[in-house]
Amino acid sequence: MSKFPGDLRIVGEFVNTREIQPDLDDWATPEQLRAWLVDHGLIEQDAQVGPSELSRADGVREALRVLALSNNGADVDVRAATGTLNDVAGAIGFHLRFSTEGADLAPTGAGFERALGRVVAIVAEAMTTGTWDRFKTCANDECQWVFYDNARNHSRRWCSMEVCGNRVKARSFRERQSHAP
Ligand SMILES: [Zn+2]
Repeated sequence: MSKFPGDLRIVGEFVNTREIQPDLDDWATPEQLRAWLVDHGLIEQDAQVGPSELSRADGVREALRVLALSNNGADVDVRAATGTLNDVAGAIGFHLRFSTEGADLAPTGAGFERALGRVVAIVAEAMTTGTWDRFKTCANDECQWVFYDNARNHSRRWCSMEVCGNRVKARSFRERQSHAP
């Protein structure tokens, strides 16, 4: 698995909290989501996270998966996904901070809103610096894991050639065989 650069790792881990097949979710309860956000330094220990926060976090997670699918060349509803991110961005304010390292966008406020704000700010920064295009969802429908495409020509389609690439290729080979006259 290739490594995500810088803070994009947080976004990668955020999306990969859910496995599609079998359906396993690290955020099965609001308490699990809260613990995950605390663990990743995105929220205060005593922040409120309930069922509505869980459903919003899930919405952002799936919107990011869709955008990363689009980065992998899939024809998906990018407009709806960016709408979800705009809802997050519109709900809070951001500080633009310049430093000797460059500039960064930091969400204001506190609690769950700021946690989601941090995630979308990292995505915005990645779009500006050009790393976002390489943030992709695995082309294997049963996997849909997100990975960072570090290939020079941005050509990677699967999270892992050994696992997903070979599995998809074996399947299309079998399909060709079964359709053969
Ligand atoms: Zn995969």
